[in-house]
Amino acid sequence: MKKVLVCGAGGFIGGHLVKKLKRQGHWVRGVDLKMHDYSKSPADEFIIGDLTEQSLVKKVVDQPFDEIYQLAADMGGAGYLFTGENDANVMHNSAMVNLNIIQQANLVGAKKLFYSSSACIYPSYNQEDPANPKCSEDSAYPAEPDSEYGWEKLFSERLYLAFNRNYGIDIRIARFHNVFGPEGTWTGGKEKSPAAICRKVAEADDNGAIEVWGDGLQTRSFLYIDECLEAVERLMESDFIGPVNIGSEEMVSLNQLAEMVMQIADKPLQINNIPVSYTGVRGRNSDNKLIKEELRWAPSRPLEEGLRKTYEWIEQQVHAN
Ligand code: NAD
Repeated sequence: MKKVLVCGAGGFIGGHLVKKLKRQGHWVRGVDLKMHDYSKSPADEFIIGDLTEQSLVKKVVDQPFDEIYQLAADMGGAGYLFTGENDANVMHNSAMVNLNIIQQANLVGAKKLFYSSSACIYPSYNQEDPANPKCSEDSAYPAEPDSEYGWEKLFSERLYLAFNRNYGIDIRIARFHNVFGPEGTWTGGKEKSPAAICRKVAEADDNGAIEVWGDGLQTRSFLYIDECLEAVERLMESDFIGPVNIGSEEMVSLNQLAEMVMQIADKPLQINNIPVSYTGVRGRNSDNKLIKEELRWAPSRPLEEGLRKTYEWIEQQVHAN
């Protein structure tokens, strides 16, 4: 049995991670600004508090722990991260959380720490062609992320790597690419595209239409939560520090994603592409060469499979509200 701390345990990935760790029989302390929105956390202890406050971090990271997972971030989908309106908070809050946690983890002699970075660190100049984006780990520099969220993630990657070099703290870093699944934010403005599209399809009348932001030709890949957690576990068990992509290589356009959801729902709706200025880069896909080399494994389940489970859950939420 390991002693584990999950920061961001009230969020989507953190919530699923706590459940998995508990199924595996570990002792878990969760911490977040809030309880989980959609299910009761099975964590042994759940501390509500703000990790930007050093005094709270001292209380939360009060022992070495076998593993610390740092998932807390001021975070949302394109409508939250790419409008520019939340830039100051996104940068300040997430950077403060990471600065506090690594300092305190180092002080107490934390045994191993996982940090969740993002595909948003990749330079926008490599993601202008929707058919051919480049997101190999070694293409991160010269840096030019397209959002302040991406810049903060890149800074924090470097922060954790610097503590590893100077103080020997054992770290692992993953760059997640669009993780989705049930029990993630699906409404309210912070939801990401798979959840937003599932909600719109579930809410639409049978002969109606849904809105998809931009021309819908921008491409992305999406990783189901179970495969994300499997990759995190394999990374933690390996000797590889990273950063490594954790994402799917099944790239689709946003309109294709909408078509897939409509097929799952058996609702042939019209797609209205609406112009917005905050759709992000034109193309993005995971590059899984490094994870295959280092972990001898990569996510492989089809997008449709995870989308089906996610749609079923969101449809239930829509009709329950
Ligand atoms: P999420 O927003 O559901 O979870 C993040 C949690 O952190 C939230 O519950 C939030 O309340 C908490 N938090 C934020 N600020 C805090 C603070 N000051 N003190 C305490 N808790 C705080 O997001 P998620 O999708 O579960 O993502 C988890 C991590 O993975 C984040 O770091 C995110 O940047 C990263 N990531 C996620 C994706 C994705 O597709 N979901 C992609 C790339 C990177």
